[in-house]
Amino acid sequence: MGVKVISERIRSVGIWVGLPIEVWIVAEPDGVTLVDTGLSMMAGAILQEIDRMNAGPLKRIVLTHGHADHVGGLKRILAQRPVPVYMHEREIPYAEGDLAYPGKSQARAHVEKGILQPLPAAPKHGPARIGELDVYFTPGHSPGHVVYGHGADKVLLAGDLFNAKRGRLIPPRFTPDPELALQSAGVLRDFDPERMQVCHGGTVYRPAGQLDDLEREAEASKRAQARLQEMRDKRNSKKSRR
Ligand SMILES: [Zn+2]
Ligand SMILES: [Zn+2]
Repeated sequence: MGVKVISERIRSVGIWVGLPIEVWIVAEPDGVTLVDTGLSMMAGAILQEIDRMNAGPLKRIVLTHGHADHVGGLKRILAQRPVPVYMHEREIPYAEGDLAYPGKSQARAHVEKGILQPLPAAPKHGPARIGELDVYFTPGHSPGHVVYGHGADKVLLAGDLFNAKRGRLIPPRFTPDPELALQSAGVLRDFDPERMQVCHGGTVYRPAGQLDDLEREAEASKRAQARLQEMRDKRNSKKSRR
């Protein structure tokens, strides 16, 4: 388990299990906010780091989405620190197993019922807030995915909005609606973080600068696919005429 200092008020706790997984601890004026909970086996290290940070008690847990690798530590953390847990209201029925995640044939409960509360709704202008974090709705990887921006530290805690490798953005794996996910990534231009952390792949500095390239790549691959489909359709219609 590795701990990293992300910014003045934020640290990460990470693990490598064939892929990297990290969660974030944010020092707030009233205590600590934990963003995502990783795997069950990370719970002890997360709590230890919260204590070591000496920024007051754990006040709340906020989740980017309900996939198992983001909510796995919840149960063991809550057993020791019963605090409120927030998730976007659109995501809750999927995380609680009432709906199957898009692309999955079966609904599966990743979180017991009665634990998750909806995040505060966004005001008419600007993002919702919880603690010192701005909440941005970023669907695509999952129906109610959100990311959290820390304005003072200029850090975006981005869950699975992207994956990353050696500081480069990668479209997120296991994403049923990549087009919508890329649209949601427009948040990088609005918030323009100096540093973004993704759950799988660590740090990307100034991520907004990489967005143009990704959009161009996605556009090119869309055109290539459409061309391929056109050729297939032509071939099929020739066959059926014969
Ligand atoms: Zn995910
Ligand atoms: Zn994930």
